[in-house]
Amino acid sequence: MKTGYRVVEIFRTVQGEGSLVGVPMIFVRLAGCNLACAWCDTDHDNGLGPMPIDQIVDEVRALAEGTTIKHLCITGGEPTLYALESMVQQFKGQGWFVAIETNGTREFRPDEWPDLLTVSPKWPPGIDGLRQRTCDEIKIPITEGTPSDEQITELVAVCTADHWFLQPVDGVRLKENANRCLTLASKRQGFRISGQMHKRLGLL
Ligand code: SF4
Repeated sequence: MKTGYRVVEIFRTVQGEGSLVGVPMIFVRLAGCNLACAWCDTDHDNGLGPMPIDQIVDEVRALAEGTTIKHLCITGGEPTLYALESMVQQFKGQGWFVAIETNGTREFRPDEWPDLLTVSPKWPPGIDGLRQRTCDEIKIPITEGTPSDEQITELVAVCTADHWFLQPVDGVRLKENANRCLTLASKRQGFRISGQMHKRLGLL
């Protein structure tokens, strides 16, 4: 596991997805992932480069200066490639609400737990590769045929979460993916569709 942080970008915007949609937030996007989704839009090879934790804290603080923002989202890439304990504890200790989004392929230790843990499983590897099966919210990216209806049912059987979201993958097939989300969500109690509000508003 990496102990230094390779940072793609640190930026201020609104949370456009999931249960905190609409909340102004600072995002720290870390580079690198153990999966290779066809639609991945993270530029892992460019960005801010390696940063010590103190520099990350300073950058986040500078972006929040003059605002009331106290929500931080650590995303990627795949954050669990890094030792998250110090980052989570530093920000929590300074009164930040810390959210993390992971693909769920590595289990979180108690000292790494954020205030909001979002698992966004991917196929592949699907359920066989899913180690983190308890979280606050599950956000499933939906494309034309993946995951299948049955794979979602299997996921529900093995995971525990307060909130379940289906999110259409962006791109030329957004409308088809959104329609598929509607079909899949309509069959399941408690499922909601998550868009990417920040993109629609141009708040990137
Ligand atoms: S899990 Fe996320 S960061 Fe990793 S390849 Fe897939 S979309 Fe990209």
